[in-house]
Amino acid sequence: QSATKSIQSKSVTHNDWPIRGVGFLDISPLFLSNKDFDNVLSYWQHRFQGVDLVVGLEARGFILGSAFGQKCSLPFMMMRKKGKLPGTLLSEAYCKEYGRDEMEIQENILSYLPNGTIPKDRPLHVLIVDDVLATGGTICASIELTRKLLLIHNVKNFKISTAIISAIKSLNGKEKIYEKYNDVNIDVI
Ligand code: 5GP
Repeated sequence: QSATKSIQSKSVTHNDWPIRGVGFLDISPLFLSNKDFDNVLSYWQHRFQGVDLVVGLEARGFILGSAFGQKCSLPFMMMRKKGKLPGTLLSEAYCKEYGRDEMEIQENILSYLPNGTIPKDRPLHVLIVDDVLATGGTICASIELTRKLLLIHNVKNFKISTAIISAIKSLNGKEKIYEKYNDVNIDVI
């Protein structure tokens, strides 16, 4: 309830940006209010108990995901747009509302996880965090990339959830994600 109110009061829609016909939802004002930002983090803390690892999507997902990771003492991992990360990478191309993009993650990043992060007796619970869900392309790519990364590291027992601030409902992103990944929990505040 208070998270919803905080988001509503701290979001602005910019019409015809970045291109004509797109209504861009900007949540930047949320980060200026510690109270409203914390309402969101507290909602996720309550909603997602038992998370083991947080993945933040560039760029606002970094701010949200790392704040959540720190609040809950959880490891945080970046998933970035093409060309920003060094080392051997895994990548996944996808389509969005205005063009194509590619998401990347470092292949060996899991080897830096603190000991004991990957549970032995239950699924590893990964939470992917982003600000806005539009067509669902970005979240689908991030799920695919997370799965690839875990399987390469021989982690076969896992579950994936996604935490998103707002959705542009007319683009049916949630439905598109469920069509592809019906076992992923998608939470939009
Ligand atoms: P999708 O892949 O679902 O079409 O687009 C979602 C991705 O693009 C997210 O990473 C999100 O940050 C960005 N994005 C798309 N539309 C918007 C928007 O209206 N507002 C914001 N803040 N980000 C958007």
